[in-house]
Amino acid sequence: MKILLASSEVYPFSKTGGLADMVGALGRALVNAGHEAVVVTPLYRGIREKYPAMRRVDWHFDLPLGLHNATAELWELDRVGEAKIYFIDHPGYFNRAGIYLENHISYADNAERYIFFSKCVVNLARYLPWRAEVVHVHDWQVALVPALILQQKKEGWGNPPATCLTIHNLAYQGVFPAEAFALTNLPGDFFAPDGVGAEYFGLLNCLKGGIVFADSITTVSPRYAREITTEELGCGLDGVLRENASKLSGILNGVDYSDWNTTKNSHLFAPYSVTKMAGKNINKLELQRQVALPVDEKIPLFGTISRLAEQKGVDIQLGALEEMLNSNIQFVQLGSGSPEYERGYRDLAARFPGKVAVQFGYDENLSHRIEAGCDFFLMPSRFEPCGLNQMYSLRYGTIPIVRATGGLDDSVIDYGQSATNANGVKFFEYTSRALAKAIRKALAIYAQPELLRQFRRNAMKADFSWAKTVGEYLAVYRHATKLFATEHVQTSAVPAQVIGARSEPVAISSVKKPAIKATVKRMAK
Ligand code: ADP
Repeated sequence: MKILLASSEVYPFSKTGGLADMVGALGRALVNAGHEAVVVTPLYRGIREKYPAMRRVDWHFDLPLGLHNATAELWELDRVGEAKIYFIDHPGYFNRAGIYLENHISYADNAERYIFFSKCVVNLARYLPWRAEVVHVHDWQVALVPALILQQKKEGWGNPPATCLTIHNLAYQGVFPAEAFALTNLPGDFFAPDGVGAEYFGLLNCLKGGIVFADSITTVSPRYAREITTEELGCGLDGVLRENASKLSGILNGVDYSDWNTTKNSHLFAPYSVTKMAGKNINKLELQRQVALPVDEKIPLFGTISRLAEQKGVDIQLGALEEMLNSNIQFVQLGSGSPEYERGYRDLAARFPGKVAVQFGYDENLSHRIEAGCDFFLMPSRFEPCGLNQMYSLRYGTIPIVRATGGLDDSVIDYGQSATNANGVKFFEYTSRALAKAIRKALAIYAQPELLRQFRRNAMKADFSWAKTVGEYLAVYRHATKLFATEHVQTSAVPAQVIGARSEPVAISSVKKPAIKATVKRMAK
């Protein structure tokens, strides 16, 4: 198939989180599976300098953006065994210090930046000689692409591609004042007040527009696909998602094991594998040395790598660590985000000198070293669409301790679920107490070397490779193209006028404690 992937971040060119990893890996996996995948993404600061093989394409975007036009250039990069990648070059929008924000404040023109980017995506899909059968858009930044394509179809685009929207995190919806809708240059009926457009309580909601107009919707784990249709985790869009449930499915993200492995990884101090584990200990000792913790292989080492956002469960983690750090354990954390949470970790480090190492900022090298060097990895998320770090931890033989939500629940096996296949520790209640209890369980595992070895073996053998996942996406693409063909016949009979950062996350104070099935609760006990 021919698939155009559009995303506001793509690893290794730009990254703030799992979205970048997923799109980069999906492109590669589609190519490896014999398909034609092309990626389009903004040209952010510094990318061109890092990839001198990049070429300028003879292409000039000059597109209406509200009452004015905006222009951009196009660059391309071919890489062996990888999806071809196009970069949209608008220095005013994208040559900035941050991707979505600076100094913790979202750029005021994010609507303008990403609506323009979306229009460039549509322009490429329409006029590139290489014709995509499916345009696969990711998150709110490009969620208006399906509506823009639909409008161009009404205006005479003969055979447009089908569209697929992947929701990586429903909490980020791209909500802007209603005036921002004018930037789309779409007819007013796309901003319909009755729920069939991008309108949401009088505001423009880009993600809602995607949910309504995309031919298929996926999210990044089966459990999260179910969760987002509930009031508890639907972030206000559960009603729209229920209405569109027939086109919604959940596909657990794959892991790109060519980046995330323990045998050929230049970030690590020593290689290791399920049959040769000695290297894991070297990574632990070197990590302790690097982050200035006492170097002692006997002390259980816990780690976290995370955006410091409410979603990630920082509050209960700080509470649980406060209690557990009185035991003989160490904790290392890498992350960046809310200044309030950074302060929380700094205070913790000050209160437990020699036990806590905290590092703020983005550091890919250290992230691999933490995954490899720790004994346990903490992921107590309030909600988690998929989560990648727990899957990286599994491959690195670092036992994940996770809250049973979204993709964390789908990817980790607790002792209560299977004594022989257990590879992690799960807890259910969103409280410090429950997390502290899970940490105590982890310490019990640590105290039994044979059991610890069994957990590690199970973890390292877990396979989330893209080879399987890619088939699930292809099934969705095929379904979308069929649906689109049917719709095309139906809608073309209707007169045109009748057819109907990450910015700030939607407040998640509305996220109540998820209703967890009694059976799952029983398993925990
Ligand atoms: P999310 O996308 O919600 O941030 P995921 O677990 O899906 O969470 O993906 C996070 C990705 O970002 C992982 O690859 C993780 O290693 C990486 N990451 C997060 N914070 C940092 C950081 N401070 N430094 C390096 N990598 C980070």
